[in-house]
This record gives sequence, structure tokens and C-alpha cells, in this order.
Amino acid sequence: MEFIETRGNDGRHPKAVRFSEAILHPSASFGGLYVPKELPRLGEEFLQEHLESSYKELALGMLDRFGIDIEPSLLKEAVDLYDRFDDPNNPIPVVDVEPNLYVSELWHGPTRAFKDMALQPFGYILSSLAKERGEEYLILAATSGDTGPATLESFKNRPNVRVACLYPDGGTSDVQRLQMVTEDGQNLKVIGIIGDFDDAQSALKSLLASPKFNERLKELGIELSAANSVNFGRIIFQIIYHIHSYLELVRRGVVQMGESIDIIVPSGNFGNALGGYYAKKMGVPIGTIKIASNENNVLTELIQKGRYDLRDKELKKTTSPAMDILKSSNVERVLFDKFGAKRTKELMESLDQKGYYELTPEELKSLQADFEADFSTDEEVAEVIKEYALHKGYLMDPHTATTIKLFDSTRPTVAYSTAEWTKFAPTVLKALTGESKRDKEALEEVAKITGAPIPPSIKALFDKPIIYDTVVPKERIEEEILKFLV
Ligand SMILES: *Cc1c(COP(=O)(O)O)cnc(C)c1O
Repeated sequence: MEFIETRGNDGRHPKAVRFSEAILHPSASFGGLYVPKELPRLGEEFLQEHLESSYKELALGMLDRFGIDIEPSLLKEAVDLYDRFDDPNNPIPVVDVEPNLYVSELWHGPTRAFKDMALQPFGYILSSLAKERGEEYLILAATSGDTGPATLESFKNRPNVRVACLYPDGGTSDVQRLQMVTEDGQNLKVIGIIGDFDDAQSALKSLLASPKFNERLKELGIELSAANSVNFGRIIFQIIYHIHSYLELVRRGVVQMGESIDIIVPSGNFGNALGGYYAKKMGVPIGTIKIASNENNVLTELIQKGRYDLRDKELKKTTSPAMDILKSSNVERVLFDKFGAKRTKELMESLDQKGYYELTPEELKSLQADFEADFSTDEEVAEVIKEYALHKGYLMDPHTATTIKLFDSTRPTVAYSTAEWTKFAPTVLKALTGESKRDKEALEEVAKITGAPIPPSIKALFDKPIIYDTVVPKERIEEEILKFLV
């Protein structure tokens, strides 16, 4: 399987690369992304064959069809990391919540958010490739709360990769911050920034553009890679659970093999939703892919009106912070798949230079053949959390709660739950009782009201020693990271 570029080739990058190259060096020509040249077909024969498979067997079966240049033994070791999930035999429980609504819980991994689904195996593969080639990599991550912990956990004490993670001091929940600053690994650095997530992200961007920084990396023999969902190494692992959800509904007799289901995906950078789109294209009977957002509703506008317009928008802080995003990276891969490289380059350049693009009516129709979208306000999210926890016996986090508005009770539906409630306990408690408490007290209160357990890994955070107490203004980030590298 070869990988090609969403914005075409600039004559300096290779025309096509193997998977290993696409994940070690994920930036393609003209600022584009790598995508598979063609997707493997998973016909009904594949689905039948895996009807009784474990999650790991399904994963290896799918990866095999992709034909990527990674040794089967390495893939097996990577997929074995799903053994670190709550129940190794059932890493992604699908919960029957009400007629036709099945919630697929993607957060039973070490950091209690869906980022573990991909980052656990991806980190292992990236580090192993770097070691095989005798190369040293640096991963820089700016996080609003979930990517940071999952990235650190993925690369902790792995060879040939170092991770520096920037988070906005005061801009994450206590649980998210503690997950980062108590993480002990020889190869990790966690830095708090005075400012918000945008400041952390723009600090990272200017660092990547800094000649002095790049010069120094060269001298030290260190290459840069990325662990966010622009990296196809994450996307590939986010296709598998969409197949699993479908098979789960077949196993339960909710649908017959071949009958379609709808899925609802809480979306930010669109990696999760893209995985669902690829699964559909590969032959999994998925009807509509419903994109749930918060008040940062660029994706709703795109899918309803065919317009991606940042000109009148400012990022709003909501109670579902992992979806507080205006530039959603993986939409580009859908544009490429539907409209080709030339048009994708044109649209993305318009977004970069003018702050907007507009699809033609035909293009919009094509998008709407696969996607539907809507958004929820924070008030709506709070009502959903309360209604489901107190009257329907299902406790969900604020990201998951954005899916409910899109549920059509006449259609068998899988809604994705992207975080455990424990990562956002203050928001959940506020929704349930109106009280404002910090994480530690909120966790205990919500557990008392609902009877939901708090996992040991979350409880333990409050007593672990703080390893990284560095909080700096953004001007000092470069200096801090260089100190860490030598
Ligand atoms: C990252 C994240 C999302 C958004 O996922 P994308 O793949 O970026 O669209 C949604 N919910 C939670 C809890 C997350 O951590």
C-alpha cells in the first residue's frame, strides 16, 4: 500500500511513500497530508470471517488487508497493548442505552479518553521504527487536555523518541493536568504555559518555524515527527472500532449482516469521523455519519451549508474542550477523497489565505450523501447529562452528550463515547446538582449520586508526586525544550 498527498506533489517530496515513511515524516507537499492511494475492500466475507473474532484479531485482520510495510510481529505487539484496557477481552464495551441507541465506549484505556485507542499502538510502532533505523525523534504536542496525557503514556520510556508536551496552565481539568505532571518517564518533558490553548498552539508553531531551534535539532541529530491526527498512523487504528461496532450490533441481532447502521461522532479534528468514513468506504454497512459539535460549530456549517468560514469566528471555551477547535485538520482527507488533489489544494489555500472556502452545490450534495451534522450548546449538554444519568441510567461525559441531539430513534445507531465522565467531573456534577466543585470533590459527589465507580488510576492521581512543575511565559518555551534535549 502506498500513500499519496492531499494537495498534490511539489517535486521535492517523493511522489508516493510507504506507511513507515508517512508516519515518521507526516508533513506532505504544500502543507498537505498523506492518504492511502486506495482503500482495501472489506466485503461481507471479511465481516463474516470476523463475526466471532476478538478485538485484537479483528484489528490484525484489518491491518493485514491494508498491506502496510510493518512486520506482522511488530503489529501484533502493538495491538497487544489493548491488553492494558479495563477488560482485555472486551476493550470497547458497547452499551445498550435505549431502543436503537448503542453507546460504544472508547475510553477504557490508561488515560480514560479515546485518544488511547490509537496512541497506544501507534506510539509503540513509531518508537520501534525509529530504533530499527537508528534515528532519534522529537514529538511536540500542544494539548487542551486529552492528547497530552495519551501521548505521554504512549511514548513513556520508549526508545528513540522524546516527547515535549505543552499545556495551558489553568486551562485543563485537574485530572488532565495531574495525568501529565505526574507522568514519570526518562524521555518526557511537560511544560505549562501562561496563557490559553491557542497560546500553547501558536507557541508550538513558532517553535517549529524557528531557524535557531531547527539548527539545534540538526546539530543534535534529532528529527521532528507528530502524534496528532494529521499522522495517518493514528487514523489507521481509528478505522477498526467502527468495524467492531457494526459487528457488535450484528452479534446482538440488532441488524442482520448487510443492513446498515448510523453512527454519531463527537468531533474536533475529525480523526474519529474520518475513521468511520473510511470504514464505510471499505464496505462496512454504515448509513449516515453524524457529526456532533459544540458551539464551535464550523463542522455543522460545512456539512449543512457547504461553507467553511473562519472570518467571523472566535474560539469559544465550552464544557467539551477537546472539541474546541476551529481548523479541523482531517476534513482535508475527505475533500481529497471526494474531489481530488487539485480541488483540495485550492480549497485549503483559500482557507489559509482568505479564512474561508465554499463548496459547489454538487460538492455539498456529495458531502451530504455521507454526513449529517448538528451542534449542542453547553446548556443542552448539561440537560442531556442530567436526563440520561438520572432517568435513563447512563452516565456520560460532556463530549459524549453532544451526540444525543443527532439520534434518530427509528435507526439502529452507535454513538461514540470519547471520554470517561471522570475526566470532566466538575461539569458532570454541575449538570446533575448545579453545584460547582473542583475535580477531587466532584468525583466523589458524582460517584455517590450515581453509584458509578472511579477507576484506581484516577483516584491515585491526587496522591502522586508532581514531577513537572515548570510553568513559563511562551517566550521561554524554546529555552526549556532545548534544555531538555541536551
Ligand atoms: C480528541 C477528542 C475528541 C475529538 O476527536 P477528533 O478525532 O479530533 O474529532 C472528542 N472527544 C474527546 C473526549 C476527545 O479527547
